Amino acid sequence: MPELPEVETTRLKIEPHLKGRRLLRLEHDAPHKYRDTHLAAGRTIATLTRRGKYLFLNLEDPGEEPLELIVHLGMTGGFRFQPTTHTRVTLHLDGSDPLYFQDARRFGKMAVVRPGQYRSMPTLAAMGPEPLSDAFSEAGFVRTVTDAGKMIKPWLLSQGPVAGVGNIYADESLWASRLHPAQTHLTRPEAARLYSAIRDTMRAAVDAGGSTLSDGTYQQPDGMSGLFQTRHNVYDRAGQPCPRCGTPIVRTVLAQRGTHFCPHCQVLRHP
Ligand SMILES: [Zn+2]
Repeated sequence: MPELPEVETTRLKIEPHLKGRRLLRLEHDAPHKYRDTHLAAGRTIATLTRRGKYLFLNLEDPGEEPLELIVHLGMTGGFRFQPTTHTRVTLHLDGSDPLYFQDARRFGKMAVVRPGQYRSMPTLAAMGPEPLSDAFSEAGFVRTVTDAGKMIKPWLLSQGPVAGVGNIYADESLWASRLHPAQTHLTRPEAARLYSAIRDTMRAAVDAGGSTLSDGTYQQPDGMSGLFQTRHNVYDRAGQPCPRCGTPIVRTVLAQRGTHFCPHCQVLRHP
C-alpha cells in the first residue's frame, strides 16, 4: 500500500501537470467509490497538498466556494500519464493531456468535499502531525509515546502519533531505532530514537521516489519505479542477514500485518 513517500512522490510528479489547470470533468463508472466528482468539473486546481497517505487537489475559483478533491490510493491505486488496462478514472484537463488514475484492486477512493469536511474519513480527521513538518516535534512525540504505553507498531499504523507511516516504514523505522515492534512502554531515549528514525527514513524514502516492491504495483506517474526498496534493511527481507549484525531477519504477524525485524538488535523488553 502506498505510504507517505509514495504519495508525496506522486504529488511532486503530477503537480506541474495539474497546478493552475482547470478540470473539465472526471470520467469513471463508479460513483460510490469516486464521490461527488461532478462538483469538481470546471474548477481550477490551485494547489496539490498531502496529508499522511491522502492527496488533495485544492479547487479554488474566484467567487466560488473552495472544494477539495481528496484521493486515497488504497492498495494499488496510482496516477499515470498514460492510460493502462486498470484505468478507473480519467481526469480531463483544459489545454493539456488527461491524467489517469489506475487501480488494479479497486480499493482507492476519491471524494469532493468542502475543506475540512472529513466525517466520512475518520482516519484523516484524527491524523497526527506530518513527520517532515515542524509540527512534528521530538518533545511532543516523546511525551505522546511514553504517556500512551501502547504496543508501538500497531499504534504507529493507526496514524495517531504521526501521519503517513504504514507497514514498510514502520518496520524500517523500528529497526533503525532498535525497538521490537511489539514493545510497549517505551522509555524516553527509545522514543527519541524512534522520532529520529521516522524522520530520517521518511526523508530518505521521499528522496528515493518511494518503494516499488516485488509485485511492481507502485510506480511513479511516468512509469518509473521507486528506488528505496534497495535500501530496505528488514522489510521483505526474511531470512536475509541483518545489515547491522548479520542475524537472519524474522518475519512474523503482528496485529494481522506482516512484520519484519532483527531478533538480535530488536529484543522485546518486558517492562
Ligand atoms: Zn541485527
